[in-house]
Amino acid sequence: MATEAPVAPFAAAPAVLAVDVGGTSIKGALVGADAAILATDGADTPQQSEEALVDAVIAVACRLQKCALALGSPAAALGVAAAGVIDETTGIARHGANLLWRDTALARRLEERIALPTTLLQDARAAAYAEAIFGAGRSSDTFLAVLLGTGVGSAVVINGRPLRGAHGLAGEIGHLQVDAHRLVCGCGGRGCVETVASASALSRRFASATGRSMSAERVVDQMLAGNPIATRLWADAVAALAAAVAAAVAVVDCGLVIFGGGMAAAGPRLLDPLREALAQRLSLGPGPELVIAALGSVAGVLGAAAGALAVLGRDDVVESWRSSPVPELPDVPSRAGTWGRPLS
Ligand SMILES: [Zn+2]
Repeated sequence: MATEAPVAPFAAAPAVLAVDVGGTSIKGALVGADAAILATDGADTPQQSEEALVDAVIAVACRLQKCALALGSPAAALGVAAAGVIDETTGIARHGANLLWRDTALARRLEERIALPTTLLQDARAAAYAEAIFGAGRSSDTFLAVLLGTGVGSAVVINGRPLRGAHGLAGEIGHLQVDAHRLVCGCGGRGCVETVASASALSRRFASATGRSMSAERVVDQMLAGNPIATRLWADAVAALAAAVAAAVAVVDCGLVIFGGGMAAAGPRLLDPLREALAQRLSLGPGPELVIAALGSVAGVLGAAAGALAVLGRDDVVESWRSSPVPELPDVPSRAGTWGRPLS
């Protein structure tokens, strides 16, 4: 009687499509079963209408699907990470402070167009999941991840997986109302962490105080050069973050907090004052270790890819990724700015 040939570990594991919809750009990737990024695509995030936004996400997914077929690696599922208030159980993007979701049935609309099982994840939870699998959270069971980009997204990872909570909002500290300036937030609240500590808030507040428009990264440069206005705005951001992170640490006693997004480029100029402010707030025990995220712009798509594999029942593949090297962006033509090499 013939014996069956041994099955290679990933013989039956498919490639998946992954798309990360952020406030300024949409990033997409074809991810192989060995976590290799086989192709990328992207677009600027449309700001004019919900319809244009959905069309842009569909277009990125469709181009990647064509690319997958051309490469002979047809994808079996799609994972989408999206900023905003996301209902992961129904696949509906409810609304967003920085995105035009209007109870958008995003997962269903994508499934209709590309005929693949599609799962929708909140973007900070996707990025935190990727940091747990590949990045700065690899050796930590329980951590908080905070993304300081167009908004402030965050998630708590427990036992290596992002916690969802009763309404999909577990670990969401960006809209805790902690800042005394009581600025109006995109969520409708006042004084949210996001109104002073997101990259766009830093840029906007600097412009309104000085009449000079510049990116958050350049405001950080101004702060490093001793500009008093940039220094004051930076202190507001650090104070708001310290208050909110302390609240999260009090609840889950995480030993690690990971910071990502554009503002994390400040490195020690963010972490050192935060560490000091946290030490003053956390009187019961040692504060958490604070680190910068390891994955950068690739975190959202990798988390979305892991989500897509979960829909296929292939958690075994995701588990194997926990000991894989960090996937790198391929040096192939792609769309959307710094996401891969731009099309010429
Ligand atoms: Zn808010």
